[in-house]
Amino acid sequence: MKPKVLIIEDDKLTREIVVNALSKEGYEVQSTESGKVGIEKITKEDFDVVVLDINLPDVNGMVVLDEIKKTKPSIEAIIATAYESVETAIEGIKKDVFDYLKKPLKIEELVDSVKKAFLAKKLKSQIFDLKSESMFLSFLSHELKTPIMIISNTLELLLGEAGNKNVYRYSEETRELLEIINRQTQKMQALVEDTLDFAYISSDFFVLKEKDCVLNKIIKNAINSIIKFAEDKNIQIIEKLPQQDVVIKCDPEQIERVIVNLLTNAIKYSSAEGRITVSLQEIEDNVKIMVEDIGIGIAKENLEKIFEPFYRVKDVNEKGTGLGLAICKKIIELHRGKIWAESEGIGKGSKFIITLPKQS
Ligand code: ADP
Repeated sequence: MKPKVLIIEDDKLTREIVVNALSKEGYEVQSTESGKVGIEKITKEDFDVVVLDINLPDVNGMVVLDEIKKTKPSIEAIIATAYESVETAIEGIKKDVFDYLKKPLKIEELVDSVKKAFLAKKLKSQIFDLKSESMFLSFLSHELKTPIMIISNTLELLLGEAGNKNVYRYSEETRELLEIINRQTQKMQALVEDTLDFAYISSDFFVLKEKDCVLNKIIKNAINSIIKFAEDKNIQIIEKLPQQDVVIKCDPEQIERVIVNLLTNAIKYSSAEGRITVSLQEIEDNVKIMVEDIGIGIAKENLEKIFEPFYRVKDVNEKGTGLGLAICKKIIELHRGKIWAESEGIGKGSKFIITLPKQS
């Protein structure tokens, strides 16, 4: 559908020029010289944008504007006036006018303003719809992730990481600067992804997909997905899983994700040649999962804080967003379980313990 624009302007020549220019841009344009007719049209039909002259022969443009905002608040209004009056501009701003153009109108400026007004209207209604359809977060995530991805891909090309090492030749200094942009972009990418994930999991839209699952299998899958990362650091992973299947009601994807997260941390916060033990036990109606490492350990005062969003222990040089454990905690609590950390202190390794009810 073509965007619909109404021009309310008493000067015939200006009106014709504007109508002509906007029609060429593909808009469906109507026009009138009268404020009263303008109000009538707005009441009867749906317009996206109204371009409004303030000095009309019959009604003051501000009255027309009031009427627009009262009856069709989603219409974006652009005011055009010959008077450079600060009061008019302030009044316009107060009435939520999209743009304020001085006469004589510069046609390019006007076309550009109408274009932006239409986009703003579309975006507002999209956000409105998305909110009501519980999809605002995925919209936001797309809007944020896309530009970051483009920056990151472009940097990859500039840095010659896509296999064209010799295409761009930089001085040492330029390369260093590009590397800084690259590192910060990667940080931003991880932060956006984790923040959106955390917001999504914390929101009402998120529901667990629970079913009967074999926990031994979920743990094995989690280990398989990080095994290479552990081998690269010469870290040994010891499994202490019962012979028989341990079946619980849970969302397998989310529980696997929690265990992957704990294992990744255990690898990250261990020095080379470390050892990680993963165990599973059934205790009456509950299960207990433990991920234990012999890495850098955690000071007593930080054992609870590390589960808070964005909390990271200072002086630890590993990359991260500080959201991993906050996400784990949310997921476990949604399963009506508990998660906590234990450590004898700095340098003495850490233990992450999860308990979950077998059935809901
Ligand atoms: P991130 O790893 O992205 O910083 P997390 O929420 O996963 O975020 O962890 C928060 C903090 O908890 C980490 O920055 C680290 O200081 C500490 N931490 C997590 N796991 C361990 C571990 N296995 N050993 C020592 N410290 C850990």
